[in-house]
Amino acid sequence: MVFRATILTLYPEMFPGPLGVSLAGEGLKTGLWSLESRQIREHGLGRHRAVDDTPAGGGPGMVIRCDVLAAALDAAVEADDTRPRLLMSPRGQPLQQARVRELAAGIGAIIVCGRFEGVDQRVIEARGLEEVSIGDYVLSGGEIAAMVLLDACVRLIPGVMGKDHSGDEESFEGGLLEYPHYTRPRDWEGRSIPDVLTGGNHAEIARWRRAEAERITRERRPDLLKG
Ligand code: SAH
Repeated sequence: MVFRATILTLYPEMFPGPLGVSLAGEGLKTGLWSLESRQIREHGLGRHRAVDDTPAGGGPGMVIRCDVLAAALDAAVEADDTRPRLLMSPRGQPLQQARVRELAAGIGAIIVCGRFEGVDQRVIEARGLEEVSIGDYVLSGGEIAAMVLLDACVRLIPGVMGKDHSGDEESFEGGLLEYPHYTRPRDWEGRSIPDVLTGGNHAEIARWRRAEAERITRERRPDLLKG
């Protein structure tokens, strides 16, 4: 059973976009995961297939209607579909690697991309949407946020990154940021690769990397050490 992503969006032509190239794209072509993007507007109302309306209580912008989005969701959900239903939203739980791992280990996700001022609160509650944020800034729509989430998940699917790559040593995996990397040439513009990395002592290399990861995390993200 492969990881199946279903996207609900007003811009299905944005997908697969960047997910169609490189390792994620290869995985898509070879069936290691699948992606379906569905047009919310197909469930829009009237001759103009309207999906949004003015906010109750006044104020700027437009809000995606609960009845339209619910119809789009209900049409996308299959019988016995237990995939998590996510709504990309700046008000959501900030996305972290632990949630990415959980999602990637699962059967896939249904992901709603908001636009305008967002979506009517009632559909979030009635369809049990889990709001997920990709960071403390506001995008113009949920599509790029959904791509960020999917990219993070898809690279963890077995086979997508190739055999050797476990991801175990990467940033966040051990609660730390990653140690610095070097490759050839050994000397460049007066800077050389730290001697320990070219000395061949693997225990020493592991110790150095651990110490560097701790130092960098302490300097840049002391909040990660509190956990
Ligand atoms: N008025 C809203 C912002 C709407 S932005 C507010 O102030 O909270 C339009 C859409 O872009 C949202 O519905 C959401 O789907 C998406 N979006 C914007 N910023 C996002 C973020 N940081 N993470 C995830 N999705 C985001």
